[in-house]
Amino acid sequence: MEYNLKHFINGEFVESFDNKRFEFLNPSNNETIGTIPVGCKEDVDFAVRSAKKAFQIWSNIPASKRSDILHEVARLIRKNREELARLETLNTGIPITQTRAQIDRAAENFDFFADMITKLSDEVYVDDVNNFVNYVIRTPIGVAGLITPWNTPLMLETWKIAPCLAAGDTCVLKPAEWTPLSANRLAEIISDAGVPPGVFNIVHGIGEISGAALVAHPEVRLISFTGETTTGMEIMRNGASSLKRFSMELGGKNPAIIFSDADLERALDAVIFMAYSLNGERCTSNSRVLIEASIYEKFLEMLYERVKKIRVGDPFDEKTELGPLVRPEHWKRVKDYIDIGIREGAKLIYGGDRPSGFDKGNYLMPTLFANGERNMRIFKEEIFGPVLLAVKFKDEEEAISLANDVIYGLTAYIWTKDIQKANRVAKRIEAGMVWINSHNVRDLRTPFGGAKYSGIGREGGKYSFDFYMEIKTIQVALGTHKIPTFGKS
Ligand code: NAD
Repeated sequence: MEYNLKHFINGEFVESFDNKRFEFLNPSNNETIGTIPVGCKEDVDFAVRSAKKAFQIWSNIPASKRSDILHEVARLIRKNREELARLETLNTGIPITQTRAQIDRAAENFDFFADMITKLSDEVYVDDVNNFVNYVIRTPIGVAGLITPWNTPLMLETWKIAPCLAAGDTCVLKPAEWTPLSANRLAEIISDAGVPPGVFNIVHGIGEISGAALVAHPEVRLISFTGETTTGMEIMRNGASSLKRFSMELGGKNPAIIFSDADLERALDAVIFMAYSLNGERCTSNSRVLIEASIYEKFLEMLYERVKKIRVGDPFDEKTELGPLVRPEHWKRVKDYIDIGIREGAKLIYGGDRPSGFDKGNYLMPTLFANGERNMRIFKEEIFGPVLLAVKFKDEEEAISLANDVIYGLTAYIWTKDIQKANRVAKRIEAGMVWINSHNVRDLRTPFGGAKYSGIGREGGKYSFDFYMEIKTIQVALGTHKIPTFGKS
């Protein structure tokens, strides 16, 4: 079946003003699954105008009613779980057991922000010197542009759509051109749940065309972007002349630090999962594993024994742990990094190439490098594939220095039974999020985002509403405080 997708604007699927189309592929064999419009300025303008008009309606619906509608979106996502997971696997190559979990999380995103918007409490300050009561409220802002990457499309789209709509804003989503498939099914679900036409819109297309037009549009007040750091920089430049508010969730090169006193079995499970789940195409991946010298050889051996048993295969097979990478272009990029790693002198312990028996599609063996050094490109640059680099450290100071010696600062994972050391190190790691003795387990109330070149701003919990809402202070005089009397003489 070929999916020839249209934009979703003002409650309807519509053709583009331009008739150019872009093909998206099945990563298992690189055959075309369907096409999207490349998008153009006129499409974006139509979507933004629809969203602007709908804002008058949506922002005036009481938050409790918006909340009910968003809970219904969550219910419908759950009802269509299997279909959505299969669309996602077909287009991304992520194994079906993992896309099901992503769909569950998509539903949870809607439930979470639907609940949260009804529980937000505003601040009140009583000024007993001047006899005022000053209170702070949040109000919806207007039209948001939501620009998302291809690695976990539906989950990341809902991570933005849910708080945006809960806040009373309306939006135009620009899904990644490589993985647009599930977004249109989500549009139907959002519409069926009772979200009025124009509140949620999709403009498909190429980033530099429709994405750029969305960023440049003067009526778009907010841009929430997840993607590569360099794209984020370009977007901020392009949005500067219309003074956009930005939320930037960007790349990562995250360390897992394994101290010699760690529970090595649990650390092993977590490090393997965080390096190879989602086919390694994961911003929070622990793509660098820093191992204390006294256990370096032992832990490396443990890693090798597990990595070689990771099940690579058809992403629809329930047993598959690692599916094909998203596109041939991306496969080549990851493979180029592997070749660079070998040339730089890192030791290839396992993988590094296409697995035997997989001639078609973007399959890559899980890859493990040892003897990483801080000057290597595979130490410093985000590969975004199933490639793990092991690096030896001698003490706590060196572990911190290695962890911080990259431009990124998204996440870090610390493994030790010494809780004081863990907290001491966590405080000094330059990252937005640190887990101690755990893989990435999300608490949606906590802020999500990165330090340094990994991002600007935080989303999650009330932080999402700090972004998607205006903060307004209303100051009320309760008495007859003194007012200067200019001109009264
Ligand atoms: P990308 O930057 O190439 O594309 C992301 C989106 O931006 C796509 O929809 C694309 O069409 C659009 N785009 C591209 N150029 C644009 C422009 N000039 N103007 C407007 N939009 C434009 O990223 P990707 O390759 O799709 O995703 C992988 C990257 O995403 C990795 O770097 C990864 O670390 C990052 N990521 C970060 C997080 C996080 O939360 N920090 C989460 C997931 C992925």
